[in-house]
Amino acid sequence: MPELPEVEVIRRDLDREVAGKKIKAVEATGLRSIRRHKSKKAFISAVEGHTIKSVTRRGKYIVMRLDGDTALVAHLGMSGRLLRAKNAKVPSPKHLHVVFTFSDNSQLRFVDPRTFGEMFVTSYLEIEDEVTELAHLGVDPLDEAMSWETFGRLITSRHTKLKTLLMDQKFVAGIGNIYSDEILFAAGLRWDRTADSLSAEEIRRLSRAIIETLNEAVKYRGSSLADEQYVDLFGQPGGFQDRHQVYDREGKSCPRCYRTLVRARYSNRSTFFCEACQI
Ligand SMILES: [Zn+2]
Repeated sequence: MPELPEVEVIRRDLDREVAGKKIKAVEATGLRSIRRHKSKKAFISAVEGHTIKSVTRRGKYIVMRLDGDTALVAHLGMSGRLLRAKNAKVPSPKHLHVVFTFSDNSQLRFVDPRTFGEMFVTSYLEIEDEVTELAHLGVDPLDEAMSWETFGRLITSRHTKLKTLLMDQKFVAGIGNIYSDEILFAAGLRWDRTADSLSAEEIRRLSRAIIETLNEAVKYRGSSLADEQYVDLFGQPGGFQDRHQVYDREGKSCPRCYRTLVRARYSNRSTFFCEACQI
């Protein structure tokens, strides 16, 4: 599942590639990917003829602002992909659900094998009315400058395991299984430490690790795992998986102390860490 860095890579690509383009035509194969709308026609007429002004992001929702103060919003879900094509002749992968053709005949395509992703049009200024979870979204480490004092106040009030807290969207937006493990390794903290047990120094390390790990992941264009669907707007996989320090590296040696990395199971998930470097 794409996490914050992968969605941010796609947002930046989109902002460069489609901002300023006018949507000439829209095709949708069915209602599954545009399920918030009553009909294909309702979705298509809300988009056709409009120009994309800019591409922003709210958590893992990609927000393409249209003229007329509406927004074309995309969520990739488990396996959604947004792909650019020079024109309609470029062959498309299977599971193509929505196609936007711009006035220069280039296309933006929404492909989604597992169909948990979606696209919809809503008011730009009142997205929270449509997506209520956005009203309670936590800090966005790629978006806002977060002081470690503020972060410290937030964290010391929580008696929750660090891994659980990092993956809580109401605390920090967009962190999942991969980046929570990588962040905790970078911070030298165990996944099952409780947040309210951290010292001031540990809080500072954790706050720095969140920002640095996510920005590095964006720099290397996200993580594409063997069993995952994530590719960028041009169909290319990311490169950050080659830089993972602990995630999915059980039995391999710790890049810092060379001891064997371990895996722990908790609530149907795995967490990977070094028993020596993370305390
Ligand atoms: Zn180690």
